[in-house]
Amino acid sequence: MTTKRDLYEVLGVSRDASQDEIKKAYRKLAIQYHPDKNPGDKEAEEKFKEIAEAYAILSDQNKRARYDRFGHSATSGAGDFGGFSNIEDIFSAFGDIFGGGFGDIFGGRSRQRRRADNRGGDLQLRLRLTLEEIATGITKKIKVKKYVICDECNGSGSARDSRPVQCPVCHGTGEMRQVIQSLFGQMINVTTCNRCNGQGNIISAPCRKCNGDGRVSGQKNIEINIPAGVTSGNYIPLKGEGNVGKHNGPPGDLIVYIEEQKHPIFERVGNDVIMVLPVSYPQVVLGSSLEIPTLTGKAKINIPGGTQAGKILRMRNKGIPNVHGAGIGDQLVQVQVYIPTRLSAEEKDKIKDLEKFENLKPSPNGHKNIFEKFKEALNI
Ligand SMILES: [Zn+2]
Ligand SMILES: [Zn+2]
Repeated sequence: MTTKRDLYEVLGVSRDASQDEIKKAYRKLAIQYHPDKNPGDKEAEEKFKEIAEAYAILSDQNKRARYDRFGHSATSGAGDFGGFSNIEDIFSAFGDIFGGGFGDIFGGRSRQRRRADNRGGDLQLRLRLTLEEIATGITKKIKVKKYVICDECNGSGSARDSRPVQCPVCHGTGEMRQVIQSLFGQMINVTTCNRCNGQGNIISAPCRKCNGDGRVSGQKNIEINIPAGVTSGNYIPLKGEGNVGKHNGPPGDLIVYIEEQKHPIFERVGNDVIMVLPVSYPQVVLGSSLEIPTLTGKAKINIPGGTQAGKILRMRNKGIPNVHGAGIGDQLVQVQVYIPTRLSAEEKDKIKDLEKFENLKPSPNGHKNIFEKFKEALNI
């Protein structure tokens, strides 16, 4: 084991330094000797490790106490004083004392190995559904235009009998390092290589069909199961059904947005549907049984005799199922009295006949409030 420097000396603090002073000293030195600021400088890297080890011990009350008593002999044993094997360890151990981590100070996630960014894009799709389709749920078959894997090169992008070669710009690392001047002095900014897009290698002879992309425009038939009860604004994500990525990159997702079509008869309110039902005068007066449309076919409704215009009748469970499977809405039927505008002579006569029956006229007893309110207008 090499002779170790005194840990307080390493951080440049006194033996009775507070935790805060230790932290401040470490932070200052770590920035100074950060490997991104001293590329290729072995000495700086060693120094950086030394600082980190000193901080690991002095920032921990127990370890610091033991170090104060036993010196380096307390730190040479296995276990809690084990040194850092590499720079990444140091980052994962102390990144947080820098607030946002080292990344914020040193320009991006420079210490993270960059992953090739060739995931395919997501696709969005609007799917218009009728209320009938929503009421029952439906499996839709749709054609999606998207990038698909090139079948000529199987997604590699290389022409047959050719192989990718190392990227001449980044020499296979997928990264580009750029020296920049910053607040902390000179440092290295690491970005994804734009020649190879982080792949590390490039196509030497591109596939003719896909021009080296490994993917081509195509289409795919997809079946989408739409559960009953969906509504406008709901969306269904289909994982992996988006564009495939370049060079066999993972596919994006397909996001299906539900759009509810306006219905000619029904209006949806939550899971209920409302319709207006025009009924003849005799039908509301005498009562009748009618067949009317519902979202799942025709159904009978009973109009009791004496039903008032505007009354809403409820047909239970004829609405839309709850999308989460809890219950079904109702169909609400608002009764409207149909008033004919053209009459034959015979019809006119018959209706005139009705005028002689006082009982058929609106009575103050039945509509007290209305009569009070409109007394003058009604001239009574
Ligand atoms: Zn191809
Ligand atoms: Zn490259």
